[in-house]
Amino acid sequence: MIIGSHVQMKAPDFLEGSVREALSYGANALMLYTGAPQNTRRRPTEELHIREAAGLMEVNRIPMEHMIIHAPYLINPANSVRPEVAELAVEFLMSELERTAAIGAKYIVLHPGSYTTTDPETGIRTAISQLNSLQIPDGLVICLETMAGKGSEIGFRFEHLAEIIAGMNHPEHFGVCLDTCHISDAGYDVSDYDGVLDEFDRVIGLNRLHVIHLNDSKNEKGARKDRHANLGQGTIGFDTLCRIAHHPRTAHIPKILETPYIDGKPPYGEEIAMLKEKKFRDLMKAQ
Ligand SMILES: [Zn+2]
Repeated sequence: MIIGSHVQMKAPDFLEGSVREALSYGANALMLYTGAPQNTRRRPTEELHIREAAGLMEVNRIPMEHMIIHAPYLINPANSVRPEVAELAVEFLMSELERTAAIGAKYIVLHPGSYTTTDPETGIRTAISQLNSLQIPDGLVICLETMAGKGSEIGFRFEHLAEIIAGMNHPEHFGVCLDTCHISDAGYDVSDYDGVLDEFDRVIGLNRLHVIHLNDSKNEKGARKDRHANLGQGTIGFDTLCRIAHHPRTAHIPKILETPYIDGKPPYGEEIAMLKEKKFRDLMKAQ
């Protein structure tokens, strides 16, 4: 099982601290933002302890492909209403791609964006033209995330992502990150995981799937809300999520937990242990 979680990247150890945090959870994968997800202030890569982090990954036999970068969610490549916002997004995304390459990571997760006051088709067309203007470094793959369909988000149908990828001048640089909470909120029946994978394969192609966000959902299937829940504390349930974590068809793909902190503390060590043991424990109950 390739399993990890969202981890922090902060002073003084930056990336090295991120890898240590992941190791403390018993993880063999991790995902991080290169700075605050809601702003564009970033440290120079020379300060990020990249070499130390890579060394720590190597000693622990974790391939760099299991270190996932998440682009900040303020980037909205589907915004045609304010082209200057979309342009800024592309400019910042370019610098994120360069940082990802400098770090030595291969996959960067990106929300395809929101069409704001237009319509999904316009949003998809806008995203296609914005993403086609990127100069993507060699070997790097942008993983478009499946979205819940909250507000005016695009990407809540596999068809949307397939259409964007089909419109790319360099489709070899594009893949998909599947979020279990988001697709359940979008109306897919996650309890039929094989059915979901068949549908994904038919519409996008399973060879495009590189990252799985493993989250429970606070809302019913089809609610289009996007509120993550801890494993076994939501409408998807522990048994289904555990089955996905161990499923042979996606065994080679890193699964990343983005579940909420409990009492101000990350629950990832416990949640990863639960998945390894295939046994649910109620983390909400005082021990
Ligand atoms: Zn995301």
